Amino acid sequence: MAKRTIMVVAIGMMSGMALEAQADSAANSYVEMTCEGPRITVEPNGNDFNIYAPGYPDHFRTNVTVRPLQPDWSFGGEDPNPSMTFSMKGGQTNQYKVVHYLKEQDATGKIFFHNYCIESSELSKTNNIVVPTGKSVIYTARRSGADCKSDWTVTGTPVNRADTTETKEGTTKIIFNRPYWQASTWFIPTMGTPKAGVYTIDLAVDVDNSILKDSGKMTVFGADFTSGTPCGFDDYTNWKSDPGTTEQQRAIDYYCYNGQNYRQGRCMWPYVSVRDSYDGFSSLVISSSDKTIDIISSMSQLSSYSPKTTTGSTTVKFNPYMGRTEGTLTAIYEGMPLAQLTVVPFPLQTRSVLVVYVGVATNHIINSSAGLSNLDNVFNQCVTKFTISERIFAYTGGPVWSGNALDEVRKEAEKDRNLRRLIRNSQHVIFVIYGTDAEKATVAGRGQCPGKHVWIYHGSTSSRTIPHEIAHNCGVGDEYQFVANGPSIPGPDTDNLMNILGGEQLRYKQWQKINK
Ligand SMILES: [Zn+2]
Repeated sequence: MAKRTIMVVAIGMMSGMALEAQADSAANSYVEMTCEGPRITVEPNGNDFNIYAPGYPDHFRTNVTVRPLQPDWSFGGEDPNPSMTFSMKGGQTNQYKVVHYLKEQDATGKIFFHNYCIESSELSKTNNIVVPTGKSVIYTARRSGADCKSDWTVTGTPVNRADTTETKEGTTKIIFNRPYWQASTWFIPTMGTPKAGVYTIDLAVDVDNSILKDSGKMTVFGADFTSGTPCGFDDYTNWKSDPGTTEQQRAIDYYCYNGQNYRQGRCMWPYVSVRDSYDGFSSLVISSSDKTIDIISSMSQLSSYSPKTTTGSTTVKFNPYMGRTEGTLTAIYEGMPLAQLTVVPFPLQTRSVLVVYVGVATNHIINSSAGLSNLDNVFNQCVTKFTISERIFAYTGGPVWSGNALDEVRKEAEKDRNLRRLIRNSQHVIFVIYGTDAEKATVAGRGQCPGKHVWIYHGSTSSRTIPHEIAHNCGVGDEYQFVANGPSIPGPDTDNLMNILGGEQLRYKQWQKINK
């Protein structure tokens, strides 16, 4: 019997300690107020009490217990209860009344219950959510059943970007719809596409009471077609930027030129250009490994592709591509498009090139063989092939060539009967000349833009020179700024055939001109 009593006492102590660890309580001169549940604050205010429940939703209920400070105060002579317990939720008010046993004084006070939380616009209303890119999400701060003006601090960790923290003050809602290219305006009320990544609402706090605060996390997952073959993938053509920015500025933003260390934007219009009736594939990168992404095709010509569904990054193959009009492959999550690839078919285009070795240049082996053989490789993006024929033309000129002198070579060559016929029948004529350029000794070649004539200095060793000048013939301009007798200024596209930084890529807008 004694043993059993000891056990009961022990259990009572344990539960009492547990309750103490969880509950907050406070007292005034008459009563002690205790509230169950963790992270709740009880504050006396004269006879009244405020109870603050930060991080609790509107439907949250808990028990609030009032205990008179015995023996001076009680609920009154007839009331035998040592305490009273109310079940309360945000926005509710209750009242207590106690009397003093000697002086017959009484005291009344009110109990105000305040909850505070942030709710997402998802069905679940929870503040930790996972959403696909393209979804606009609103977080609303709620206090005691009503929207609550709050100060917000949000840290975003978008994929391939540095952390960025933003604040917004005195607003009941924040809207996550930041377009990819905008870093500074996450909360503007426009429809956009949040970049894949993790966005932490570090803090949302009631502007009127810093006890009331909450936090949350939104994980945005996305998909991107990042590369394609056989014939190219555009990096920034049609890539969107802030309204009003120039194409040059867009390219600078994209290629991180001028000291930027990460990309501001995203390829908004990726493509693969495919030779008619040929196979192609593209990498699809998905920033989530547990979401099922469907891949759909816009057209019957692209019906033969795989996979049609994936739960992680994959390679999408289409085999073969039949047709002349563009088609799209779209990665979709629950009806929401995450990324789209445009497949651009081209029929094979052949272009004829005549190489004319002028004067003493005939005796020099220029690196034109590398440049010539590189033509097919570079113009593969445009599905263009070249046929090459080579001739020798005895002519004395140079070694420093002015623009007039270059033109003189062309005119003299056309006086040669055999050459004239060949020149007429070729789409490009490359004069390989000995010497240097009068305007700038380091110039490797010149090409009419548009036109059919090209001049290559025999000392040119770059395999890019001939493809570069041929592109000029097709109407494609330089992607850098030429400065006569001084260093030229590179353009922002670091991997472009028409820049001077060594790249060999042609962008969609460029090979559109070539394929015209
Ligand atoms: Zn050029």
